[in-house]
Amino acid sequence: MDVGSPELRKHLLRIIELALFRHENLHQLPTLPEMDELLTQARDATLLQQKLPIEGQSLTATMDEVFESILPSLTNAAGPKWFGLVTGGVTPAALLGDWLTPLYDSNLIVHLPEESIATVLEQHALDMVLDLCDLPRDRFVGKTLTTGASASNVLALAQGRQWVCATRWNIDSAEDGMCGKVVKVLGVKVHASILKAMSVVGLGRKNYIEVSQEGSILAWDLEKLEALLKEYKETDTTGAIVVASFGEVNTGAFVSDIPRVRELCDKYQAWLHIDAAFGMYARASKAYAHLSPHLELADSITSDGHKWLNVPYDCGLYYTRHLDVSLQVFGGIKAAYLETNATADSIPNPMSTNIESSRRFRALPLYMSLKTYGAEGYTKMIESNCLFAKKLADWLQQHPLYELITPCHLNIVLFRGAGERWVGRARHQELIRALKATGDIYVTATEWNGQEAIRAAISNWRTDFERDFEVVTNALEKAVQ
Ligand SMILES: *Cc1c(COP(=O)(O)O)cnc(C)c1O
Repeated sequence: MDVGSPELRKHLLRIIELALFRHENLHQLPTLPEMDELLTQARDATLLQQKLPIEGQSLTATMDEVFESILPSLTNAAGPKWFGLVTGGVTPAALLGDWLTPLYDSNLIVHLPEESIATVLEQHALDMVLDLCDLPRDRFVGKTLTTGASASNVLALAQGRQWVCATRWNIDSAEDGMCGKVVKVLGVKVHASILKAMSVVGLGRKNYIEVSQEGSILAWDLEKLEALLKEYKETDTTGAIVVASFGEVNTGAFVSDIPRVRELCDKYQAWLHIDAAFGMYARASKAYAHLSPHLELADSITSDGHKWLNVPYDCGLYYTRHLDVSLQVFGGIKAAYLETNATADSIPNPMSTNIESSRRFRALPLYMSLKTYGAEGYTKMIESNCLFAKKLADWLQQHPLYELITPCHLNIVLFRGAGERWVGRARHQELIRALKATGDIYVTATEWNGQEAIRAAISNWRTDFERDFEVVTNALEKAVQ
């Protein structure tokens, strides 16, 4: 069913009005919609029972329905008081880029420079992020946008597996499978998505080995690491990928000793992957760059755009020094119908370095946001989030009814309710519910050293100390009273 221009204009303007309203008021809107458990259950059951209509309705009817009953039931996670997971918002530049993307509906499967600039723009946007984080463009020759850090971690482990099997045993694992070999993953409190990637790539989750120093927040037991790598090297069956976290999700902490870990990886033929989903951006600030040194020593790097770069979902980043290995894993199969003008030294076809064939032009919002804010704009955004987090940590530490669990390193605050009153999972959940119910803060539950904890990650470009800090601390105050 086609839609006439006047009708389309009417709906586009309605969306523009909403966008302007949210731009001006998002900070005052409650983080969550009104929640009534029974009503919500009834609503969801009714919705799920509805069948696909045989005959479609007018676009106006669909828009009315969405405006009346869908949009008001969404969270305001794009707003400045949303500290759950590591959630970025959407800069105006990125919003405009995202709206332009489906107007052209470009599909970035192959590199066709004479037909479209899209694949070049993707590489350029990825290079500009390297500039922002002071990483050498010429070292990270393989780069691609993904759906998020989880997908980037899948790319990393698939590549690591390929490289380890080839280097250790001359096996092409992409072609021949593992041939009875085992590739272990050694890490320090890695993100859960690393374990998921192990399962996807066929390494097996049980082959993850924790190599942290006992009692530390996030430090390698370097002796254990070397002993394990040496042991594996001496066998004819076991290889290793080493995974370091730059920006651990609960604490924002970074593993150190990367130069030594690099040496060990070289000596024992292990792949070094660094998961820097949000931690990479510490490098954009002189004040925080010292937390994140030696990232350039990694064989592969995972990062996210939809977290701290504040571009919309979904946008992940992946970098590697070994484009050849990437092409072996993802580019081994040729489809005759996919014509390409790519030459050996040009940009590789995205489908040959990534999981997907058809891919969204998610580089456009990223490009527009990077160009609009520049290095200085992003540095300011990051520093202002870190300052907010630091002040929040100080406030919690001084509050008798809260306990700050670890020092605040970057943009994450780890805390819990203090005293008997909040002991036990049920009480702890009650506190989190009370916090969320204020509508003025959103946090998520986690565990730290086997105990319940709450985390607040500040990563939204709009979070403004002058405007939002008091509102947020009032909500914290209210929840424990
Ligand atoms: C968020 C995060 C991930 C997963 O990222 P998604 O973008 O949600 O897939 C992986 N690793 C780290 C360190 C993260 O913070």
